[in-house]
Amino acid sequence: MRKKKAKRIPRFSPWQRALLIVVAVLLAAAVAVGVADARRVRFYMSGAEEIRVPYGERYEEPGVYAVSVGRLFGESRRRLPVVVRGSVGEELGEYTLRYVTPYLFRLYGTERRVTVVDETPPVLRLHTREGYLPSWLDGYDEEGWEAWDEHDGDLSERVLRRAEGDSFVYTVTDSSGNTASVTRSPHYAVTAPEIRLNGGDHIDVNAGLAFHDPGCTATDSLGNDLTQYVRVEGEVSSFQPGDYELRYSITNALGQTVSAVRTVSVIPIRNPGVIEPDRNTIYLTFDDGPGPYTGRLLDVLAFYNVRATFFVTGLNPDYENQIGRAWREGHSIGVHSATHDYYSIYASEEAFFADFNAVEDIILRQTGTTTRLFRFPGGSSNTVSRFNPGVMTRLTRAMTDMGYIYFDWNVDSNDAGGTRDTESILRNLKDGCTGRHVSVVLQHDIKDYSVDAVESFIVWALNNGYQFAPLTESSPRAQHGVNN
Ligand code: ZN
Repeated sequence: MRKKKAKRIPRFSPWQRALLIVVAVLLAAAVAVGVADARRVRFYMSGAEEIRVPYGERYEEPGVYAVSVGRLFGESRRRLPVVVRGSVGEELGEYTLRYVTPYLFRLYGTERRVTVVDETPPVLRLHTREGYLPSWLDGYDEEGWEAWDEHDGDLSERVLRRAEGDSFVYTVTDSSGNTASVTRSPHYAVTAPEIRLNGGDHIDVNAGLAFHDPGCTATDSLGNDLTQYVRVEGEVSSFQPGDYELRYSITNALGQTVSAVRTVSVIPIRNPGVIEPDRNTIYLTFDDGPGPYTGRLLDVLAFYNVRATFFVTGLNPDYENQIGRAWREGHSIGVHSATHDYYSIYASEEAFFADFNAVEDIILRQTGTTTRLFRFPGGSSNTVSRFNPGVMTRLTRAMTDMGYIYFDWNVDSNDAGGTRDTESILRNLKDGCTGRHVSVVLQHDIKDYSVDAVESFIVWALNNGYQFAPLTESSPRAQHGVNN
């Protein structure tokens, strides 16, 4: 054994061998310790992992440092070199920064997200013009504005203006949705005018009288007269009773309006229901009808509560029923003539009575009653009957003896004479009745131009203190006196 051992040729000397063993043991120990320690890199980040940077500001790196750390020996104090990969640009958006450290043949890293944001609204600035004093009437003349955004630049074109009462609100929004808003309240040196209604805000006017608008005055706070800018809306129909609204307004250049409203009440004017003996009285009488215009004449009379007297004929059988209507509506009916032919009715008393009786029959048929009122064709003073001398003297006496009452007239519309137009008829009626206590008016309801004058005449008369009444047996007779 020893020999065998002794025969071995040693490659290392004993101290060498010992050294090798020591080294091997140390190496194994180091590896074991290294594995057990498991060292790696730990990053320490100043600031947050996500950072928002306002647009236009520079990103300041808050810093990151790295150290090694192990299980056995803990954290090293020595800082490892950190490389930053990536950068934060100037434009809006998200940027990633990567921090990298090589250690023990490995790369360690961590990240930070940086967002460049625009959270600053644009700057909106209103211009003013030196010495400009807006007036309400002219409206506000925009003095202009400018808008600037740090990111978008000039946004003046994107400014929106809207009116809010007397003010204006300007707004502008940048591409990131940040909005700036500014209000301008122009100082109106001259404020809205005041409209004052001449004659007050309520006027009563009698139906039928022309309404004359007394107008208004409009003045602004400096006392300037703006009346010429007033627009009047609404109409008054003075023949149609009711309430009417007149609106007086001024609208300025901005479409703002100042207005005042007046109510005009057209009061229906009506003949009084009860006749007053002391009042000037007009008895309207219509001869020779009924005819095609009698219906509308009755409408007018009814509207104004006026009752009249109709001396009727038998000349228009188609309209005979108007006699009944007139009677039912309170008018007086009298006999005139069936034929209205002077040469037959005044030829003899018998002829006259025959003609007279024919009308009485019509009246009885239409009204259910007889009448004692009548009017001679041509009037009691007619001279057309002189072909039969004294006939009027005999007839007036006979008729009176029989209890009939004949009426003439003291106001002639002349509608059977030369007057053929409504205006002249109206003038004749007014002239004839003016100042007269009792007027018995002669008209013919078979003349349309005469019937057309009646409404205006009634309105004039009622507004001038006259009253209307139908003839009765006790009414004034306005008899002319017999000429034959
Ligand atoms: Zn007649």
